[in-house]
Amino acid sequence: MDFLPIFLDIKNRNCLVVGGGEVAARKIALLLRAGARVTVISPRLCTELESQMREAPQDALNQARITHLHEAFRPDHLDDAALVIAATDDSEVNRKVSETAKLRRVPVNVVDNPVLCSFIMPAIVDRTPMLIAVSSGGKSPVLARLLRVRLETMIPAAYGRLAAYAGDFRERVKQRFSHPEKRRRFWEDALQGPFAEMVFAGKDREARKYLEQSLENESNGAAQEPLQGEVYLVGAGPGDPELLTFRAMRLMQQADVVVYDRLVSPEILDMVRRDAPRIYAGKERSKHTMPQESINELLVRLAKEGKRVLRLKGGDPFIFGRGGEEIEMLSGQGVPFQVVPGITAANGAASYAGIPLTHRDYAQSCVFVTGHLKDGSVNLDWPMLARPNQTIVVYMGLVGLPVLCRELIAHGLPTTTPAAIVQQGTTHKQRVLTGSLATLPGLTASAHLTPPTLIIVGEVVKLHQKLAWFEPGKDSSAEQSATAGK
Ligand code: SAH
Repeated sequence: MDFLPIFLDIKNRNCLVVGGGEVAARKIALLLRAGARVTVISPRLCTELESQMREAPQDALNQARITHLHEAFRPDHLDDAALVIAATDDSEVNRKVSETAKLRRVPVNVVDNPVLCSFIMPAIVDRTPMLIAVSSGGKSPVLARLLRVRLETMIPAAYGRLAAYAGDFRERVKQRFSHPEKRRRFWEDALQGPFAEMVFAGKDREARKYLEQSLENESNGAAQEPLQGEVYLVGAGPGDPELLTFRAMRLMQQADVVVYDRLVSPEILDMVRRDAPRIYAGKERSKHTMPQESINELLVRLAKEGKRVLRLKGGDPFIFGRGGEEIEMLSGQGVPFQVVPGITAANGAASYAGIPLTHRDYAQSCVFVTGHLKDGSVNLDWPMLARPNQTIVVYMGLVGLPVLCRELIAHGLPTTTPAAIVQQGTTHKQRVLTGSLATLPGLTASAHLTPPTLIIVGEVVKLHQKLAWFEPGKDSSAEQSATAGK
């Protein structure tokens, strides 16, 4: 080990920063977060530092947290310093600060110069009071940062709250379990089980109650309450696994069973915990694999067996996903649940097709509608849709496309209004056809698209040619992204 990692308490202690540029500003921000008082030595301050000076909180005695000394560095500046950071662009000054500090045994860090340092600054993941510090020992700060980013994605933002709660209960748990092994088990269960999950989901009151109850049960020697299941209604996004949220990923790892829809891509399903059984709940056009009522009942039954049920849906569960109905049922049955939003097909497909859904010049509003055929007709509010400066996104619209285009024209949109259809947006099978209200139905009929497909109507579609950036995988059997007609 080249360094000893330690966490230093610098609350209300004076820390010296030599230099007034942007790097210094970043270090100062960090020192302030740890509660230090900072003295900056520099002839000039960058604008960021100037605003930091204005905004820095004052301490209890109304003393400024940052003091600026308009002078050159002198050894006596180090007199009461807990540490010093040199962040000037003058290597001579940096060297002098380092030498003086080392002589006086004041910990010193010289930015980007490990040789002159007696301590180095790690990349950090801050979930106060949890802190993770990552260091490459000065060899590759970029690598340390990359690792930090990976950790950031793995650790829920609420980890800090979790730790704070554990702190609140620490003494009581200690009193309850005199045996350290039992105490450790209690915490391991709590911090990986429903208590932690409640904190992550922002259900703090419930979490506290749950922990109180667990402690109570332990002390009564009573058997644990029957296991309480839960349903995670999770949006899996439009297809590309990279569009999953952190929370979705985490819940996918801890589910006991997964109930998924046809729209959930195989790549995403692959990322669910391996030993969680998978139940296909289907839903194909005109081929409903499992009626909605049976899905609802299934979710309730599994949760009541004490399972953590991952209800995985394409896109966002609350956009044409019947997520609302499912959780209404759960709520009625007293089954706890949480909902994780996903990127809806409109957002995903539009981004990957280079079609901004709103644009100052072309569209000030955007509506999402479903073109699902009911008794062979598309039943939509045509006057509301056929407005200028509006983007219309149609879900489940492939079969109704000819009716859609005809009605929009009949209700006043020009036949030349640009329109696009996106097949399997965000996946390596994405295809984009663009045309107009007049031409798109014909283009689509001869293109043999495979669902899911999304229709986008409006002037913004014109931007596709200029802004398309996504190149679907060359290895797919599907044809390449095609742009036909105008
Ligand atoms: N809840 C989902 C929508 C479910 S309705 C969401 O928020 O995206 C199903 C319809 O969504 C499909 O018929 C299709 O119109 C659209 N859709 C879903 N994924 C898509 C994708 N990757 N590309 C294009 N359209 C998609």
